[in-house]
Amino acid sequence: MDTVIPFPEAAALPVAGSSAVFPVRRVYCVGRNYAEHAKEMGFTGREDPFFFCKPADALLTVADGQEGEMAYPPRTSNLHFEVELVVALGKGGRNLTPEQAAECVWGYAIGLDMTRRDLQGEAKKLGRPWEVGKGFDQSAPIGPLHAREKVGTLDSGAITLSTNGQLRQSGDLSQMIWNVAESIAYLSGLFELKAGDIVFTGTPEGVGPVVSGDHMVAAIDGLGELRVKVGEPA
Ligand code: MN
Repeated sequence: MDTVIPFPEAAALPVAGSSAVFPVRRVYCVGRNYAEHAKEMGFTGREDPFFFCKPADALLTVADGQEGEMAYPPRTSNLHFEVELVVALGKGGRNLTPEQAAECVWGYAIGLDMTRRDLQGEAKKLGRPWEVGKGFDQSAPIGPLHAREKVGTLDSGAITLSTNGQLRQSGDLSQMIWNVAESIAYLSGLFELKAGDIVFTGTPEGVGPVVSGDHMVAAIDGLGELRVKVGEPA
């Protein structure tokens, strides 16, 4: 087929223990999905789930055992980390039950929902969309995908983030307000989900800022570690 410009590069995640990759279609994110984080952001922790998206090309893939590097993004002085369990869908559908949604999960990865908190706060105050706070380039560092058939269903286990060797976030996957299956089921009532969609499932309390030169280490039981350095501005 003739194209007037080249097709953009498609986003894909490395698969742990394999030379295969997982092509990514859409990146959905669940907001405020752990009660203590919802409270630290000024909410009660009992609201319905809500969602936002990041562009698939905002993913910054980090290979097993490597440290990735993200450039410090422009127009912010308050770049925050949020460690999250990411689920990747091997199939989708509409109006799924939680049982059907659970069967759509192909695998899991550790992700960081990096956030320009100052720009997000301004958007909230002005009733504007969140893209500039959430969807910037390299805003979604992510490690390799682990197949569910190998690691089992992850519904509990420690989720942590350290910066420069100091523990900043520490929670348990069982503390999600809407668990993985419930989040996917709810999302499937809003959008038709398809194979290749991935979902960032929210962050526990303790979010905070990083600056150029900081080293982040995110970890989730069963998935190993994701290491990312914050570089200089691009
Ligand atoms: Mn988040």
